[in-house]
Amino acid sequence: MEKVLINKPLKDLSPSEWEALCDGCGKCCLHKFEDEDAKVHFTDVACKLFNSNTCRCKKYKKRHEYVKDCLSLTKRSVAKMNCLPQTCAYRLRYEGKPLKWWHYLVCGDRQMVHKAGISARGRVISETGLSQEEIEDRIVSWPNHKKALRKKGLVKG
Ligand code: SF4
Ligand code: SF4
Repeated sequence: MEKVLINKPLKDLSPSEWEALCDGCGKCCLHKFEDEDAKVHFTDVACKLFNSNTCRCKKYKKRHEYVKDCLSLTKRSVAKMNCLPQTCAYRLRYEGKPLKWWHYLVCGDRQMVHKAGISARGRVISETGLSQEEIEDRIVSWPNHKKALRKKGLVKG
């Protein structure tokens, strides 16, 4: 299944293939803000259900019971997800780009997204106990850091 998945158009993915496309970077679980120019700014503050060691949601299947506004990424909604990081597998495939070398479907190693420094593992704090102002003070560039991404050959220009 994995080889097929790499190039398959999003619209043709089965539900299990859709789930399998996620690289597990965890960056969609970070708080972000959109400015007046519709530019999205990430913070290093994660949702209360985010486990920063595993980079996974602690209650993925029941997450909407606890976090009402957790995004549900679907074939339809991906087109409007300006908030996804540039490295996101769904964003890349939606834009017709190939998955990157560190994606487990390409390299065969689920840990590579962490080893390559792409994921949020170990670099975020929880939103628990933070005010909105405190979260806004924690805007960071690394989730979409073009310089770092360029160095790794992940983006051009
Ligand atoms: S940003 Fe995309 S690839 Fe990364 S965890 Fe979220 S949905 Fe998966
Ligand atoms: S509920 Fe889970 S999947 Fe949704 S943002 Fe929080 S940690 Fe991420």
